[in-house]
Amino acid sequence: MKNMTLGNIAEACSGTYHGTEEAKEKTITDITTDSRKAGKGSLFVAIKGEKVDAHRFIPAVFEQGALCVICEQAPEQAAGAYILVESSLQAIKDIAEFYRKQLDMKVVGITGSVGKTSTKEMIASVLSEKYRVLKTLGNFNNELGLPLTVFRLREEDEIAVLEMGISNFGEMHRLSKIARPDICVMTNIGQCHLEFLGDRDGVLRAKSEIFDYIAEDGTVILNGDDDKLATLHDVKGITPVFFGIDSERKIHATNIHSLGLKGIACTVCTGQGDFDVTIPIPGYHMVYNALAGTAVGLSLGMTTEEIRRGIEKLESLNGRFHIIETGEYTVVDDCYNANPVSMKASLNVLHDALGRKVAILGDMGELGENERQLHEEVGVEAGKQDIQLLICVGVLSEYMAKAAKEMNPQMEVVHMDTLEEALEEIPKLLQKEDTVLVKASHFMHFEKIVEVLTSK
Ligand code: ATP
Ligand code: MG
Repeated sequence: MKNMTLGNIAEACSGTYHGTEEAKEKTITDITTDSRKAGKGSLFVAIKGEKVDAHRFIPAVFEQGALCVICEQAPEQAAGAYILVESSLQAIKDIAEFYRKQLDMKVVGITGSVGKTSTKEMIASVLSEKYRVLKTLGNFNNELGLPLTVFRLREEDEIAVLEMGISNFGEMHRLSKIARPDICVMTNIGQCHLEFLGDRDGVLRAKSEIFDYIAEDGTVILNGDDDKLATLHDVKGITPVFFGIDSERKIHATNIHSLGLKGIACTVCTGQGDFDVTIPIPGYHMVYNALAGTAVGLSLGMTTEEIRRGIEKLESLNGRFHIIETGEYTVVDDCYNANPVSMKASLNVLHDALGRKVAILGDMGELGENERQLHEEVGVEAGKQDIQLLICVGVLSEYMAKAAKEMNPQMEVVHMDTLEEALEEIPKLLQKEDTVLVKASHFMHFEKIVEVLTSK
């Protein structure tokens, strides 16, 4: 890792170095918080977790050949160099900040309330047509995940595509300090983490901290169809590039047509040439993600043909509108997470499926005092779609069920309080060839429902 000698690392995290002068000049091969992965030449960071205090793995890590350990207490018997710090978590952030500065590459930082991971995947798929790209794995987007992603970067990488997620004020400021983005992308400002951020204006302010460390010659790419993002006309002297379905936006889409569960097609208009593209994952929202990908691709000098190819190569992730044909049902595994915006988006796509349509929806978390109303709104939306069976699971989902039934008395609506009950009852309610959408907030563990439906 470039310039990552033990001496530089100790300085970067204001730690006290204990070890030989010779070792101090050595360069580490990687950084990990997982003791099992700390091999020859590694730097192991011992974190005190809620369940496990990783300090106890220090002897094992040295045996495995680790070059150095970062720890909050001096090891009883240190078989190698260690750096003593006040907080290992803070050290990780400080070291990531230092390391990022050593690397001469473009960083794309992606935030927003909904669709960060999906947009990150799309942007990475586009950029991979021309560049060597390293992207956040899964959802490693917070104050621990982002540094760990930064540590995976190597000099050969040309572009880093980083997801940045927060739940409170100040966090994005710290993430921005680590990532130092050249390009900032914001997907939308929704009703997430309202218990900390208050309202959507609070969400906008908190997310806008991403600009605190943007490069001076940086690029800002925003969803202009979002009323809050549309108010950002000047970001530290940078004029944002707006994308959106509305034809007023610089990068927009026309001729949008659903291909059912196979995806969605459209014409992307860029001002530098238009192109037709098939996005291989369904959902109206995927058009937004493709437009964001286009905007980033153009800002990094790609041709529209390269961008089109990149969009068409997008692959779906488990839990995010991942379609599984079981032979018995078509399961739409969207169980990774949910909030009112994404629930409505997914219900919209289900509408396009053939055959009988079933939605299994669960509670959405972190909605603050409006949680009841927001669940009712999803119920109303479900009632408006051509869905034959709605199964609502969880305590708050009872509001969803009631609102749906009121909206559409013809629809069969079932409510269950617990996941256990759902796992038992749902298979009895389904018919062969049903298309089944499975979606709830992460804490509901709807992946267990997907498991039951796909295990046969
Ligand atoms: P998290 O906060 O958990 O990291 P996220 O912002 O990364 O969430 P995704 O995991 O990408 O969001 O998407 C969550 C769901 O939102 C998807 O399953 C999909 O239904 C929907 N979605 C994806 N992209 C968009 C978008 N641009 N606008 C609205 N909804 C979207
Ligand atoms: Mg995510």
